[in-house]
Amino acid sequence: MAEADEPFHVDPTCCTACGVPESIAPDLFGWTEQGGCRIVRQPVSDDELGRMFEVLECQEFDCITYRGRDAAILRRMAEAGLIYHAEHPGDFRSRRMMRDRVSFAWAPRRARAPSAGEVAGAFRAYLRSEKGYLVWPGIPPLTRTVRLSWFGWRFHAVSFEAGSEAGTFVAILPPGEPGHAVGRMVEAWLHKCDAGPVRWYTASEWAEGGAGTAYRM
Ligand code: SF4
Repeated sequence: MAEADEPFHVDPTCCTACGVPESIAPDLFGWTEQGGCRIVRQPVSDDELGRMFEVLECQEFDCITYRGRDAAILRRMAEAGLIYHAEHPGDFRSRRMMRDRVSFAWAPRRARAPSAGEVAGAFRAYLRSEKGYLVWPGIPPLTRTVRLSWFGWRFHAVSFEAGSEAGTFVAILPPGEPGHAVGRMVEAWLHKCDAGPVRWYTASEWAEGGAGTAYRM
């Protein structure tokens, strides 16, 4: 595909080599000989699209845009609050959806299924290994809630509950903007620990028993 026809596209004239794309989606981005970033592969899977959206959200100079007209992608961009990065948004308008619940299966190799407190403990351990976070210890009876901060003493809480089947769990994110940031962390952890089927829900989808989505944004 000629570069000019690529759905996701980088404007080569505005690059300051910010490093955002390669830190989030190193499999989708590379560098030109002139030292600018470029897309080496268009996203295909849900996960790849999600990471492309994260790049769109975090890029410093809005040099990456979506030139395509795929309605499913445009709808997802609108739900992620990113439609302003689309060059042909059509009738889609940004209506950012907060998927603040995620269900997943988590089964480390051991005889008995873990408790929600143990799952929370594994997430705490992950955050500590990543560094850069203050993580409150899991003191009984609050072992199922992880309190974390990435800026001073502003702590945010994510709670874990057992799901309807053994070995399945639900994480409930904090409301508002911090929920998006915590969602990114939970998503990265679930990816790293190879969690089973992961589904993300808005509060209303959850309340109505909806099927959720395989992606957070
Ligand atoms: S996102 Fe923009 S500034 Fe950052 S590396 Fe890519 S083109 Fe350069």
